[in-house]
Amino acid sequence: MNLNEYKGVYVYVQQVDNKIDGVALELLGKARDLAKDLDTDVTAVLLGSDVKGLVKKLAQYGADKVILVDDPALKDYRTEPYTHALASIINEFKPEIVLVGATAIGRDLGPLVSARVQTGLTADCTQLDIGDFPIKPMMGKEQQHNQLLMTRPAFGGNTIATIACPDNRPQMATVRPGVMQKIEKIADAEAEVIAYNPGFEENNKYVEIVDVVKSLSNTVDIMDANILVSGGRGVGGPENFYILEELAKAIGGEVSCSRAVVDAGWKPKDLQVGQTGKTVRPNVYFAIGISGAIQHVAGMEEADIIIAINKDETAPIFDVADYGIVGDYKQIVPTLAKSLESIAA
Ligand code: FAD
Repeated sequence: MNLNEYKGVYVYVQQVDNKIDGVALELLGKARDLAKDLDTDVTAVLLGSDVKGLVKKLAQYGADKVILVDDPALKDYRTEPYTHALASIINEFKPEIVLVGATAIGRDLGPLVSARVQTGLTADCTQLDIGDFPIKPMMGKEQQHNQLLMTRPAFGGNTIATIACPDNRPQMATVRPGVMQKIEKIADAEAEVIAYNPGFEENNKYVEIVDVVKSLSNTVDIMDANILVSGGRGVGGPENFYILEELAKAIGGEVSCSRAVVDAGWKPKDLQVGQTGKTVRPNVYFAIGISGAIQHVAGMEEADIIIAINKDETAPIFDVADYGIVGDYKQIVPTLAKSLESIAA
């Protein structure tokens, strides 16, 4: 493999029902930073049926080029035709880096494609940089420059690992939604469009989709909320969550929770913040009766302002909080809700 043949930062653009998933725009934002460090450009890979209309938006969020595979075989996500399309693009265009969102689809597609093109993939990254690898010179290991350094929590979040793929190309990573930031939209941006036909041949690996049943959920997406009022085991039971809901209502926020709350069956998984839940970035995050375990903090530490309420003054949540209140939330939260409501009125 001649590594020097591989150029450019590519982003797989997940779309479902012709709607671009937010993580694709976040990855375009990160790809711009990486491409700047490597003095190269950013290419969006758009796969689907009748999806040409999405090209403009990809340009507005940072794509210099869009490789478009528009084919009825790609109408709904199916593992085999999507893997074939993305792997063919990699073999044809030879990107240096390929980023994929760590969504349900991305977690299926990314590893399969990396195996088919015989390279490595680091899953669930929380940070991506360009740098030297090994990071420090090591005996017997020559340091290579301009490598993609992929950072992710390991061993249940107890350590942070930085991983590189120095001997194969492309360097592939899946990245969790909500971790990277999209750029400000550039209204008049244009991208060069490259239509590509990977040649689909129906085979026995093609799954036939009989029906698509959408799950109906009446919970909001906590990743979109500006204010989150998050409750932990310290709330004491599902019957007490109305206290947090009243605070959320008073300030136009939404309720979320820790994993302990989900495991206890008090709230649905959709509302879980953290390493195995959602990564959130609200303006204000209230952590109420939450101890601040590393796996929880991984999902909320990027909030602009963190306010912790906990009866234990040594709780680790106070290490990441901007404001801390020590005491029983049952006394503090209703008072807070009342005074904030009167300010808002
Ligand atoms: P606890 O740790 O039990 O804390 C409860 C807190 O409430 C305590 O600090 C206590 O002082 C306080 N309290 C009690 N009563 C009151 C009161 N009346 N007023 C005020 N404060 C009070 N966790 C997540 O949240 N998200 C994840 O995505 C996640 N992923 C994980 C992945 C792995 C691989 C592993 C191993 C763990 C993961 N966890 C995750 C679990 C995590 O380690 C913690 O167990 C969990 O976050 C604890 O939840 P908690 O803070 O609600 O409960």
